[in-house]
Amino acid sequence: MIVIDNGTVLTMDDARTVHFGGHVVIDGDRITAVGAGRYAGAADEVIDAAGMVVLPGLVDLHYHTAIGKGFSDHLPLWEYLDTCWYPLIRNLDAEAAYWAAAASYLESIKCGVTTVNDMYRRVPDLARAAADIGIRAVLSNDVALDEHNLDTLQDNKDAYDAAHGTGGGRVEVYVGIEWLPLASPELLRDARTLADELGTGIHVHLNESLTEVENSKERFGRRPTEVAYDAGLLGRNTIAAHCVWLSDTEIALMRETGTQISHNPSSNAKLGNGIARLPEMLAAGLNVGLGHDAAECNNSLDMFEVMKFASLMHRAARVDASLQQAPDVLWMATRNGAAALGHETGQLTAGRKADVILVDTRNVMFTPLAPGNAEQLYSHLVFAANGSAVDTTIVDGRVLMRGRRLLTMDEPEILRQANAAFQRVLARI
Ligand SMILES: [Zn+2]
Repeated sequence: MIVIDNGTVLTMDDARTVHFGGHVVIDGDRITAVGAGRYAGAADEVIDAAGMVVLPGLVDLHYHTAIGKGFSDHLPLWEYLDTCWYPLIRNLDAEAAYWAAAASYLESIKCGVTTVNDMYRRVPDLARAAADIGIRAVLSNDVALDEHNLDTLQDNKDAYDAAHGTGGGRVEVYVGIEWLPLASPELLRDARTLADELGTGIHVHLNESLTEVENSKERFGRRPTEVAYDAGLLGRNTIAAHCVWLSDTEIALMRETGTQISHNPSSNAKLGNGIARLPEMLAAGLNVGLGHDAAECNNSLDMFEVMKFASLMHRAARVDASLQQAPDVLWMATRNGAAALGHETGQLTAGRKADVILVDTRNVMFTPLAPGNAEQLYSHLVFAANGSAVDTTIVDGRVLMRGRRLLTMDEPEILRQANAAFQRVLARI
C-alpha cells in the first residue's frame, strides 16, 4: 500500500474536487481512498507530497513511437511522409523498434503521461518496451494497402495474438489504419470486421490535411469521414486522430457514431495542416482528447505543451480569450482521453486504476501560487508549466519515476540505444 500524503489533490472527479493537504491511497493497481487531511491508516510506503499537486496521469491519445525527430522539419505532411516517415518505419528492425519505443515512453513518463495510444510498426517489440518501462499502452499497426509496403491487417492480427493483454494487462492492441490516401473502402471495412472479431478498438488518422480531403473526394467522391462512415469504421471504440477539416456533416457523423476524437494542435500547427474546429466539435458533444502525435512532427512529447496549444490556437484563431479554459483543457488530457480508450483512469477516485502523477510546484513556473487557489493551480498547469515539473509518475500502482529518476529501466542505456538505432535505420535509407 502506497500513501501519497499532504499534497494538493486535483481529483478531476465529476465535481472537480480539490483537496488542499489531501491524500491518495493506492493498494495494488487501484486507488482505494482519496480525501482531505492526512491519512490516518498504516502504509508500506509514504510519498510526502508537500509542495506537490497530485493529479491523474495524462493520456496521450494520438501517439507514434519516434525514431528520427529533427529531420525535414519544413515539409508539408504528404512530402514529409514520403521522404522521412515512411522510409524510417519501413527500415525498422526489432531492436530499433524496441529502443525507439523505450525512448519515446521515457520522455512521456518524464512529462507525466501514463497512457499512450501508439500507432507504429513491430507492435510486439513496442509491447516489450511498454512492459519493461511500465507505461500503459494501446498499440496498433500502421496498416495500409499492400502496395505501400507498410503493415497488413494480418500483421495487426498477429500482433494482437502476440501482445494483447501483456505487461500485466497494461498493453492492449487495436487495429490501426494509417490514413485514407493509403487505404480503400474495402480495407476500412475489413479493418472493422477484424476489430469486431477481436473485440478491440480502431485507431485511424482522419481529415488531417486538405490534401487528404481532396484525395478522398477525387478517389471516392466523398469526404474522408463520409468514406469511413460508409465503411463502418467509425464507432465508440474508434479513435479518429486530427479531424482538422471536418464539415458540419462530418461532425454529425462523428456524433451519430460516438467516435472518439484526438485533437493534436501542435502537430497540426507544425505541419501546416490548419486548426481543427474544436469549439464546434465540443458543442456537438463529441468526446475530444489530446495527443502530441509524433516527435517527428511536434517535436516534443510534452503534453503540458499540447494543452497550452489546445487553448491558445483557438483563442488566436477566433479572437476570443474565453475559449478553452484551463480546467477544461486538463479535463481533455485526463478524463476525455481515458474515456476514449474505455480505461478506468483519468481521475483520482476510489476504485479507479492508480495512474497518478505528482507535479512539483516549488519552482518559478508555479510562482506566485496563492494557498488554496484551485483556479490559479489549473492555470499554472496548463499555461505556465512544462513536463519538467513532473516529479513522480505512477502507473497501475507501480512507481515508474520518483524525483525525476526512472526506476524501471536504465535511462542512459535507453538514450545510447535509441541513438544507435536511429543511425542504423538511417544508414539503410
Ligand atoms: Zn499521427
